[in-house]
Amino acid sequence: MVTKIDEQTTTDPPDLGRSVRVVGRWEPVDASNTPHEKNKRGELGKPLFNWYFNRTPKDALSRISFPQSAADRRHTLQNAVTRAPKGSVNPEKVAVTDPKALTRHIKRVASFFGADVVGIAAVHPSMIYSGSRAPDDGTGAQEGGGGPKADSTEMAKKYPFAICLCTAWDYNLIQAHRHHIGDHAYHFSQAKLQLVYANVAAYIRELGYEAVQNRVQCMPAALAAGIGELGRNGMLITEKFGARVHLGDPILTNMPLIADTPLDIGVEDFCNVCRKCATTCPTNSIPMEGKVVHNGVEKYKINWETCYRLRAYVLDFWEVCLTCVTVCPYTKPNTWWRTMAVESLKRTPFALRPLTVRALKFLDDTFWGKVPRRRVRWLNYDSGILPVKKERTETNGAAAETHGEAPDPDSKVGYYYPLKENTRRFEIMRERASRTKGEVPKAGLARAVQAGAAVMPGADDAPSVRQGPAKNGH
Ligand code: SF4
Ligand code: SF4
Repeated sequence: MVTKIDEQTTTDPPDLGRSVRVVGRWEPVDASNTPHEKNKRGELGKPLFNWYFNRTPKDALSRISFPQSAADRRHTLQNAVTRAPKGSVNPEKVAVTDPKALTRHIKRVASFFGADVVGIAAVHPSMIYSGSRAPDDGTGAQEGGGGPKADSTEMAKKYPFAICLCTAWDYNLIQAHRHHIGDHAYHFSQAKLQLVYANVAAYIRELGYEAVQNRVQCMPAALAAGIGELGRNGMLITEKFGARVHLGDPILTNMPLIADTPLDIGVEDFCNVCRKCATTCPTNSIPMEGKVVHNGVEKYKINWETCYRLRAYVLDFWEVCLTCVTVCPYTKPNTWWRTMAVESLKRTPFALRPLTVRALKFLDDTFWGKVPRRRVRWLNYDSGILPVKKERTETNGAAAETHGEAPDPDSKVGYYYPLKENTRRFEIMRERASRTKGEVPKAGLARAVQAGAAVMPGADDAPSVRQGPAKNGH
C-alpha cells in the first residue's frame, strides 16, 4: 500500500500506525530540548556533562567508535562524515516521469550502500523540529548563530518526503548487552549508517534534488514510513530485525517519490501482554502501565532521563545499555522460524491476537529465557568474565581495568550487570571503595541513578567540567 503525496493534507494528523496515535494537538518538538542538547548545555548535571565531553574509555575499540569517546576525534569515521562539507545540488535536474519506479530505484540504491531497512514517509509539519539542531560544539547554540526558527509547515511543503534508513546490529554481538561487545555492535552500525545516509544524500543531489538532514524527528518519520512499530521500550521494532536497528537522521527531499504506509506486525498486541523490557530495565525507565498521552500523542512513554543518567556511572564497563533491545521477543536472528512467528501474528484477527501473543511469549520465555544472559566470546572479549577494577594509576588518572577470572570456564552465562537481581553488586563495589577511603557508602544503583548521584567507584572523582583526561586533537 502506498499513499500519493497529493492524497495527503498537512492539516490532518499523520497516520503513524496502531502503536502510536495522534489524539490531540501535536506540537513540533524543539530540537534544543532533546536529551543530548540539554546535556551539552550542562542542564543534566556535571557527571552527565563530563560523560559527554570528557570521557575517554580504556577500551581502544570504544575510542574509535564514536567521536565523544575518542581520544582523537579524527580517528572516528563518524567525525569525518558528519563534519564533511555538503555538496551542492546538480543544476541539471533529472526529469521524473514515473515516481513509483524512482522510489523503487532509490530503495535499491540505499540497500546497495548498506541499508538494511528503507522506507519513505510523507512528511507532516509536526515531524519537523522547531528550531535548528545545535552543532556538536558544547555551546548549545543554534546553527547559524541562533537565527529564526524553521517554519515547520513551510519545510513540510518544501520537502514532502523523508527517506528513512536503518542498519541492523549484529544479533550475536548484542546478546552481550551492558558489555563492550554490545557497544561495538551499536556504535559501528551507527557509523555505517551515517556513511549510507551520506551516500544516499549525495546521490540525490547529483540527480538534481535537495537532500536535507537534521530537521525531522526520526521516530514519527520511521513509523509513517512503515519501517516498524513503537514498542513499550520506546524503540522502533522492525519486521526483520526487531528492535536491533539504528535509526539515523532521515533525509528530507523534494524528489518526487511515493510514500509508504505504517506497518502492522502486532507490536501493539504484543506489548499489551509482554512487559519483558519493563521488568528487566535496570533503571525502571520503561512503564509497566499502559500508554499515556504526551504532546497530543498516545504512546508508551519511557523515562528518558533515568535511562540517560545511567551512562555516566557505568563507562568503565560499557557505554550503551541495550537490555530492552536484547530481551524483546521480536529481536531474534532473521530466520524462517522468526518470519513464521511474525507472519502468524500479522495474519491473526485483532480480537484473537492476545491468544497468539501469549503462546509466542510462552515459547520465547521457554526457549530464549526470561532474562537472556548468553555468554558471548568475540575478538579478545568474553562476557563470561567479570571485569575487575584496579586502583587508579598516576599516569592516566582513570581507574584501570583488568579481566578477572571466569568462575566457570565452560559456563554459557554472561555477566551483564547490573541486572535488577544483582544491582547490589554496585553497592558492594561502592562499599569496598568507601572502606578503602574511609567514606560512608551510598545507596544502590537504581535509586542513585534516579537521584542523579554517583555510585560507581571513582565516579565521585569524575574530573570537573572540562578537566578530564587529556584528549588529543580537541
Ligand atoms: S536503562 Fe537500558 S533497558 Fe532501561 S530503557 Fe534504558 S536502554 Fe532500555
Ligand atoms: S519486550 Fe515485550 S513489551 Fe517490551 S517492546 Fe518488546 S514486545 Fe513490547
